[in-house]
Amino acid sequence: MANIIYMDNNATTRVADEVVEEMMPYLTEKYGNPSSMHTFGGQIGKKIAEARERVAALLGCEPDEIIFTSCGTESDNTAIKGTLEVYPNRRKVVTTRVEHPAVLTTCRDLERHGYSVSEIGVNREGQLDIDELGFRVDDNTAVVSVMWANNESGTIFPVEKIAELVKARGVEFHTDAVQAVGKIPMNLKDSAIDLLSLSGHKLHAPKGIGVLYVRRGTRIGTFMHGGHQESGRRGGTENVPGIIAMGKACELAAARLDEENTCVRDLRDKLEAGLLASCPDCFVNGDTDNRLPNTTNISFEFIEGESILMMLNQFGICASSGSACTSGALEPSHVLRAMGVPFTAAHGSIRFSLSRYNTQQDVDTVIEKMPPIIERLRELSPFVKT
Ligand SMILES: *Cc1c(COP(=O)(O)O)cnc(C)c1O
Repeated sequence: MANIIYMDNNATTRVADEVVEEMMPYLTEKYGNPSSMHTFGGQIGKKIAEARERVAALLGCEPDEIIFTSCGTESDNTAIKGTLEVYPNRRKVVTTRVEHPAVLTTCRDLERHGYSVSEIGVNREGQLDIDELGFRVDDNTAVVSVMWANNESGTIFPVEKIAELVKARGVEFHTDAVQAVGKIPMNLKDSAIDLLSLSGHKLHAPKGIGVLYVRRGTRIGTFMHGGHQESGRRGGTENVPGIIAMGKACELAAARLDEENTCVRDLRDKLEAGLLASCPDCFVNGDTDNRLPNTTNISFEFIEGESILMMLNQFGICASSGSACTSGALEPSHVLRAMGVPFTAAHGSIRFSLSRYNTQQDVDTVIEKMPPIIERLRELSPFVKT
């Protein structure tokens, strides 16, 4: 796999070498249980405390506001269901139509259990209608969940502003910040956000580790009952190597935040401009003024994203498409549909998501390989007007 050009970082990221190095001793000789009375196990607690401090430093919060979980999905589930548990008389959740399935499926399942769910729509740029959101939040609402940045379009929502609006109504606010952490500076101390989710594998840590930030004083039900781990808020023997990896990844992310917004952004912009210039009938999806620095989502009209991906794959280029295979049929993603991207364009949308490991050479190669692929597929397309 020497010649892979990996531009699918919103799906998962390469584990940083520094992270592997930091976690390795805890996969090998330092295998103790932090709950044990002996020093061999007990000493691991110090390393977990250090990881918690590193996560808190990146988020601009206190270490005791950090709960380690198994993934972003668990954090999202816990935030929403755990809040409903402490407000038994409130039967409503407000969210958006473009959330990740970790939030959207959770909310739709709640509907089956008698809760009402309001899904706020977005405009053509993928931006939320904040007035509508304000209108939907009422006395019956327990929690509002709005993602910080969209994994498909890269569009960034003004969540700090939304959190203030929601808190002014006395309602808890959760944000899925899985795509935003490490790409956007954050200072939760100065924000009205109550609950925030993040995931290790989107941040150059391994899969299977996540974080839920819970603001001091915010009440939340226990989702995973068990031992006294995580101050009794999330039972289960700690994923020690994962937690240590997460801490290191957050430390690196804090140190490299500028690089994401200069070098990575620059490569993304060159890639985008290069593709738009060399491929006819294509356009960018998302709010280009408020967008993640690493993401570009481009619709190539009249062709299928899956076909583009397969042809890119022959050159070792990894990206992803805006279609998902649901019940045997290729459906445009719920995000592009919510944005009102026309059918023939939504089907041909490709997301390139870069990272600090991409190079100018990677970008040049994609810009070189793409035009003949598009041309070839258009020749075969039944949609193209001749
Ligand atoms: C990947 C992702 C998740 C899920 O995180 P996991 O750790 O894979 O469970 C949730 N939300 C967003 C926006 C994501 O991109």
